[in-house]
Amino acid sequence: MKRQVRRFEKYRDVMNEVLKGSGVAIYSGGKKEIVIKKIHESFDYIESHAQDTPYFMALADGKLMGSKCSRCGRAYATPHAYCSECGTGTDWFDLPEGGKIHCHSVSKYGGGRFLKQAPFSLILVKFENVDSYLMAEYIPEEILELKRMKKEKEKTGADSASDAEYNKKIWEVYYKIKNGTRVKPKFRRDPHFDVRDVYFVPVE
Ligand SMILES: [Zn+2]
Repeated sequence: MKRQVRRFEKYRDVMNEVLKGSGVAIYSGGKKEIVIKKIHESFDYIESHAQDTPYFMALADGKLMGSKCSRCGRAYATPHAYCSECGTGTDWFDLPEGGKIHCHSVSKYGGGRFLKQAPFSLILVKFENVDSYLMAEYIPEEILELKRMKKEKEKTGADSASDAEYNKKIWEVYYKIKNGTRVKPKFRRDPHFDVRDVYFVPVE
């Protein structure tokens, strides 16, 4: 090969070279060698909220709305211009003040701009008398503790011991969060007119 490219057997070392080194590396830990390279992309994405606009305007004012079918009464916890059951148009209604965790996750990684937010927890919120769920970020004290731990780990330079401790902690937090926990919404002080203008915390 005309150009010398470093080879690594461990994928972690490949990523280090690709992200922080020359931008290209060969992974040689498998049956066949694989060239892996970094591509930098950046673009502006223009988004129109169209018929969902009232939802995001309410969200910016600290209010969660759902949509309810005017014919069969099916209620959705998210913007839903037409009913999935019968196809009829829906009307907006105010969601209850709080709900319960239906299921949850704790993520160590995220794509694109969400990578910096990690670790984070996503939950599906079940509201009483509402037929679908709302996905949102969940920020209990345990998640804030995880975030502090990650920051500290980055500041001191991660070694495999602190990595293991961090991974263990992630699982601990995952098991500590219980489905069925009562949660309430909190709203961002500086709304961005997107779904992250709301997040949930436990009801004390
Ligand atoms: Zn319907």
